[in-house]
Amino acid sequence: MPDVVVVGAGVMGSAAAWALAEAGREVVVLERFTAGHDRAGSHGETRLFRLVYDTVDYIRLAKEALSQWRQLESLTGRALLETTGGVEHGMAPQELRRLLEALAVEHVDAEVLDAAEAGRRWPGMRFADPVLFQPEAGRLKAADAIAAFHSAEADFRFEQQVERIDVVGDDGPVDIHTASGTVRAPRVIVAAGPWTPALVGKLPALRVTQEQPRHFRPIHDDIAWPNFVHWRKGGFDTYGLLAPGEGVKVGFHAGGPSSIRTVATSSRTQWPIGPCGRTSRTGFPGWTRRTRRRSAVFTTTPRPLTSSSTNLGRSPWPAVSPATASSSRRRSASCWPAWRSGQRAHRTGSPRPAPSGNPEATLTLLC
Ligand SMILES: Cc1cc2nc3c(=O)[nH]c(=O)nc-3n(C[C@H](O)[C@H](O)[C@H](O)COP(=O)(O)OP(=O)(O)OC[C@H]3O[C@@H](n4cnc5c(N)ncnc54)[C@H](O)[C@@H]3O)c2cc1C
Repeated sequence: MPDVVVVGAGVMGSAAAWALAEAGREVVVLERFTAGHDRAGSHGETRLFRLVYDTVDYIRLAKEALSQWRQLESLTGRALLETTGGVEHGMAPQELRRLLEALAVEHVDAEVLDAAEAGRRWPGMRFADPVLFQPEAGRLKAADAIAAFHSAEADFRFEQQVERIDVVGDDGPVDIHTASGTVRAPRVIVAAGPWTPALVGKLPALRVTQEQPRHFRPIHDDIAWPNFVHWRKGGFDTYGLLAPGEGVKVGFHAGGPSSIRTVATSSRTQWPIGPCGRTSRTGFPGWTRRTRRRSAVFTTTPRPLTSSSTNLGRSPWPAVSPATASSSRRRSASCWPAWRSGQRAHRTGSPRPAPSGNPEATLTLLC
């Protein structure tokens, strides 16, 4: 019997499996599609890594994630996170103050520049307000990161769709059923992204949107492109980064249409060009025409899941340990590795899942 079964080999499940295997646990990962497939939330070449969040908790997690990315790089011999710096602008003065205060608590370097100075430093962008620059932000090689996690000594089983999970007896173990058989284990980690409720029953509402970031060609190859996040009042944030070989990638945070039926890139509804076109004319003199668009599903919770907010109602789970990555606005999964061994669950007072400590949780949710 394996020590843990992980359902889902997106970045969350893969990171969890890697950490558990590193800790000497026997892990089986069940993924309904192929390795690195493009039908969920984790595919694509790049992701932003940032330390600028509006709560100290998230900044702390991002700091932990930074050191764990570096550890993953040194253990696997892969360069995964390139430091580019990051700029954030468009926030109200009180929001900027709050961000600076939170960063100061965690001793994270940050610099505020006026719009003219920022425009000189990064001529590909146009700024109207003070700009918060954070030098440790970076570009994560997302597909390579997942491949690095898949190098774990874990039993990854692809094209194995989990159909049902049953708790056996009062206190586990757990039977995980697929079309080709049943795997029994003392613990299960469900990292099924938008499909999580289908497997575990009642959960706080997940918001699933279909995102289609665009790539634009830079006008000059020698312009510096830090990560960028443009905060907007009452609208969606624009974010982006230079993706080498693909162009400047830009997207709207959870701005796409609601969707959960997305299972193949080719069948996706197309997101109108409007907002991106406008953004390119007004805010980005340094790029020219659109080169390509990608599509992926984005899952957010209204607020971070905690033990008390995870009311599973009549669910049979003896112990549940939620660990949320993407919650509300402006928070995302740059903290991937910080969730990989369940630190979040531990921090919120829930039992830490298997890697260390007392693994009391029968079910861990990574969503
Ligand atoms: C366009 C876009 C841009 C983003 N940009 C950033 C960024 O710049 N920085 C950042 O930090 N974050 C970013 N994110 C967010 C981040 O990519 C996601 O939070 C993360 O990839 C989610 O990973 P996951 O493993 O939880 O979910 P998913 O990637 O959705 O993985 C869930 C997996 O579970 C599998 N599965 C589901 N049901 C079953 C079943 N019954 N049996 C077996 N397997 C099952 C699925 O096939 C899938 O592989 C972005 C997201 C999107 C969509």
